[in-house]
Amino acid sequence: MSWICTACGTAYAAAGAPPTGCPVCEDERQYVPAAGQSWTTPAKLAAGHRNAWQQAAPGLLTLQTVPAFAINQRAFLLRTPAGNILWDCIALLDEATLALVRGLGGLHGIAISHPHYYTTMQDWAAAFGCPVHLHAADRDWVMQPSPALRFWEGDRLEALPGVVLHRIGGHFPGGSVLHWGDTLLTGDIVQVAPGGRRVSFMWSYPNMMPLPAGEIRAVAARLAPLQYRRILGAFQGQEVAEDAPGVVARSAARYVELLG
Ligand SMILES: [Zn+2]
Ligand SMILES: [Zn+2]
Repeated sequence: MSWICTACGTAYAAAGAPPTGCPVCEDERQYVPAAGQSWTTPAKLAAGHRNAWQQAAPGLLTLQTVPAFAINQRAFLLRTPAGNILWDCIALLDEATLALVRGLGGLHGIAISHPHYYTTMQDWAAAFGCPVHLHAADRDWVMQPSPALRFWEGDRLEALPGVVLHRIGGHFPGGSVLHWGDTLLTGDIVQVAPGGRRVSFMWSYPNMMPLPAGEIRAVAARLAPLQYRRILGAFQGQEVAEDAPGVVARSAARYVELLG
């Protein structure tokens, strides 16, 4: 039985008692709740929650835990001719989710934007017998070892034909986005603002701490060569539906201007 942090969803190795703290929450990019760190187990989480599915586009499904749990991000299931990829991860892997994903053909691989969404990736990888692609720059944030973890280096990894991970940095040094067709899936690395006409890039979202201007310029430069039309972010409803590269460029330029 593993322990899952209820504030961030990170799973820790089975032990008689929960961990004394959650390093992911203690980092300044997250937070320890005022009432202190609390813990659940996969069975308790499954007893009070379920995963809700939506179709973002043909071949692109989202799944999100309801009622909301921990950071409340969504994961994406990409259905490609070469197999399915799970983009980002959520803590709840219940029997229904297992059955549904198996019914869709299982997983060929899992790719995750940054450590806040590592959650129970080790359990998902074991259940579906697939690798997890993580950027090596963030490997110190892995809280449980697993033979399924594959640490990639550099700025680009083709996880499956046509499914390309790009290291963008910013929020985390290994912060990555997934490029598939006309769509960029960005997790927290490019955060879609309300209205879908602006994006932002933060060192810490809960603590509202910005990134330095030089890092914003670097993030924008790494995104500039990519050919895409829209962005889907980490949270339900987050979408830049049209001219996403223009939105990214204008948002980054204005951010640097405000910092200056
Ligand atoms: Zn935590
Ligand atoms: Zn994050």
